[in-house]
Amino acid sequence: MSDCLFCRIVRKEIPAEILHEDDEVLAFRDINPQAPVHFLVIPKKHLSSLAEVTATDERLLSRIVAAINAVAAKQGLGAGGFRVVTNVGREAGQTVPHLHFHVLGGRSFAWPPG
Ligand code: 5GP
Ligand code: ZN
Repeated sequence: MSDCLFCRIVRKEIPAEILHEDDEVLAFRDINPQAPVHFLVIPKKHLSSLAEVTATDERLLSRIVAAINAVAAKQGLGAGGFRVVTNVGREAGQTVPHLHFHVLGGRSFAWPPG
């Protein structure tokens, strides 16, 4: 989508600190980190949220999971663990309508979330 913020990051029209890129997936640091390590993993293809994912995206989702695990390990989150969050819609706090998985680590997290 031409005016979508994360599509623009995919097209390199907006700079981001990219941690992983392949033909289908991009991982980059969140601009407003909520933990010592906080990055986002997105499909290059525009999907507005997890709610738009269908069975045809099975392979894409497994690629996203692989990127989450690879970048988390590279960022040193293997031992302490990490949290993966995807917000779907307004009440969940989604502010960018392009599917993204937050990966947070480097500190302890409370449960339940706020
Ligand atoms: P959401 O609230 O939709 O779950 O998460 C959107 C995330 O995108 C937020 O954590 C926010 O800090 C991050 N974000 C918003 N604009 C930009 C940007 O231009 N660059 C980067 N790297 N992250 C952004
Ligand atoms: Zn998009």
